[in-house]
Amino acid sequence: MRLPGADGQSFSYSAQVLEDRAVRVIFGRGSLDQVALEARSLGTRIMIISGRHEAEAASAVSDQLGDDLAWWIEDVVQHVPVEVAVKAIHAARDAEVGVLVSIGGGSATGLAKAIARDTGLPILAVPTTYAGSEMTPVWGQSDQGEKTTGRDPRVLPRIVVYDPGLTASMPPELTAASGMNALAHAIESLYAPDSTLLSSEIAEEAIRALAHGLPLAVRQPYDLEGRTETLRGAWLAGWALGSTTMGLHHKLAHVLGGKYQLPHAGTHSALLPQVAAFNAPAAPGPFTRAAGALDESLPEAVGPALFELAIQIGAPTSLADLGMERDAIEAVAKIVSGAPVSNPRDFTEEDVSYLLLQAYLGNKP
Ligand code: NAD
Repeated sequence: MRLPGADGQSFSYSAQVLEDRAVRVIFGRGSLDQVALEARSLGTRIMIISGRHEAEAASAVSDQLGDDLAWWIEDVVQHVPVEVAVKAIHAARDAEVGVLVSIGGGSATGLAKAIARDTGLPILAVPTTYAGSEMTPVWGQSDQGEKTTGRDPRVLPRIVVYDPGLTASMPPELTAASGMNALAHAIESLYAPDSTLLSSEIAEEAIRALAHGLPLAVRQPYDLEGRTETLRGAWLAGWALGSTTMGLHHKLAHVLGGKYQLPHAGTHSALLPQVAAFNAPAAPGPFTRAAGALDESLPEAVGPALFELAIQIGAPTSLADLGMERDAIEAVAKIVSGAPVSNPRDFTEEDVSYLLLQAYLGNKP
């Protein structure tokens, strides 16, 4: 399947062409220049939400906006702690903001979503990692170690501007971990109970683009060819994530991130090969597709291939290396095995403990 942008050329179009979701996507090198124009199409009194590392891009957008900039929030925290969200909502109301522009990774997008969920304000998202949140109607929030997520059409960004140049500043470790996070979206989407022919085509292409682009993006961070291919994969993976229901892998990642504050992308990376190896026997069709996209032929090769890819690009393979304590395994297994999770393979508390132990130790599945 040849999707728009496969040749690295800039383009823009409405995602309605693909399905019924009205997200306008602008993809291409230098498209940051279009942010102010696009934001003004959504309204006036614009608020920028950007993380610390995205200051340069956010400054450029602030210059473009001039007097249309109503407020700027830089207090972005992973997993959107409720107190950070409440402060941002008050700021948006006080400044009579009309449009939200998030510039950054999933945490900046997540804070914009928290404001949109409360106020109904439209979001223009400018992603700078491969997290994919910009393509989903899913919000997340954490409160004293509990992470809650939900779906609300109001948080789905109206416009997404993908500029591969903005991802070049990601250091290799973040590039690798974030890319594995995107791969997890595509893999789980392939075997989701509500996957469709279209979502599977897109997920498969996402895996192919990510597996091809990531080694280049890690090896040559400022080479825009690898960055473009990887960001294209992340966009498609985010689309697949937003269109389908996630399973065991995402549940584990949410519990580990919310309760133990493990880094989001790295946790996905360490878990993915193990969960893929566990699920493969129960979903041979989806895993055969994933295998093909990873240049493998057998479904059971997917978990090991993802592990090898993680090693190749320097992405985390061990939860212990991310700071997880071994005695968390039992607690997490208990929570996850008791939660309603749609997954191709049924699992017991012992299964989850085993998976977590392997991911903790960083063993090849
Ligand atoms: P992040 O947004 O927390 O970014 C990680 C770090 O990288 C931050 O310090 C950030 O400032 C920095 N950074 C971002 N872009 C950079 C760049 N181009 N160059 C250098 N540094 C850069 O991490 P993330 O992995 O992008 O997002 C994780 C968050 O997103 C989690 O809270 C997760 O739950 C959420 N998420 C939500 C969805 C959804 O659909 N709702 C999907 C994926 C992730």
